[in-house]
Amino acid sequence: MTSAPAANPAFPSYCRFTASRGAPPVDGTVSLGASGIEIDLPGGSRHIWTYGKLRSEEPIRRNAIDVLLTSGDEPGASLFVQGAGFAAALRERAPRLSVRAAWLREKRMWFFILAFVAGLIAAVYLLGFSPSKSIAQHLPNSWRERLGDATRSSMTKGHKECVDPAGLAALTLLTERLSQGASGSIPFHIHVYDWPLMNAFAVPGGQIVLTSGLLDKSESPDEAAGVLAHEMGHGIELHPESAIIRGVGLGATLEVMLGNTTGGGLANVGLMLAQLGYSRSAEREADKHALELLKAADISPKGLGNFFTRVTKMEAEDGDEGPGAYSWFRTHPPAAERARVVSEQKDYPSSPALSAEAWQNLKSVCKKTRDPDQAE
Ligand SMILES: [Zn+2]
Repeated sequence: MTSAPAANPAFPSYCRFTASRGAPPVDGTVSLGASGIEIDLPGGSRHIWTYGKLRSEEPIRRNAIDVLLTSGDEPGASLFVQGAGFAAALRERAPRLSVRAAWLREKRMWFFILAFVAGLIAAVYLLGFSPSKSIAQHLPNSWRERLGDATRSSMTKGHKECVDPAGLAALTLLTERLSQGASGSIPFHIHVYDWPLMNAFAVPGGQIVLTSGLLDKSESPDEAAGVLAHEMGHGIELHPESAIIRGVGLGATLEVMLGNTTGGGLANVGLMLAQLGYSRSAEREADKHALELLKAADISPKGLGNFFTRVTKMEAEDGDEGPGAYSWFRTHPPAAERARVVSEQKDYPSSPALSAEAWQNLKSVCKKTRDPDQAE
């Protein structure tokens, strides 16, 4: 209060003062002073409660006929004042106590929340900042691996993992060769499943699911290497982690990562991830990584290009009902544009992704399989 309000002839008003909870109330008078309300009690004692520290039991409405006040100046004490005149005059001197002030306080909180959300949305759209990705980046590796295990087992339910030793050795060779360009950030683990569907998915924690169907349809090790490199690109960019956090929320994701999978809420997380697919820009990012990984490994990108072209043609011939439905290419359109990007790559010295023998071993990795719940 900087200026003293004019004296109001309606005061002092009658009031009832209680010194502490349970104490007997005392009758007195109250008036509105320059810096606070002045309470005069029998015996000549005067209490001054400054306007800034007054609290009203409920916001003082325009048509209030009484007020019940407490004060930070005298904790525990309370003051009851009857009379519309006092209530109205108090509202003027301590506007904080009005309904509108209470409404504004609440509004202000909502304003901040909305501003925060609007800021996030703007950041997402204008700057390409992805909150789910930055969350994913800060997850410990062991958590992402656990999320990867849960996603992989959900995704591959009912299919056996292929574990023929010679085939696995060839797969390790290929994975290591492709990982050279991945700057060692993520240790990749590729798992092949006996599954005629032609597909490959990246799941969290650098894990990749590859189907026997995809290996069968690949005509060269370079083709399989191209698809693998693309999926590794998704892994490097943490696309699976981000998609899961976006899809089911951080809470449910954390539950899986912390080992609480009994909730069942994420039983279909793998299916969800497989069905969702990624945005165009995420696919471009993965392709960009794929080309870099192939180049660092001295593997020609032509395999990836051939694969796009050939399988697109196959899909068109099979139609919607054909074996291609739900395949890698359902979540990876449009192949033509991507084949063009690959074909624009400058030539560089390259050698086959695998020797003929290792490639044959990889193609027959499903000679030996293991049930999902069988220990390693
Ligand atoms: Zn992709």
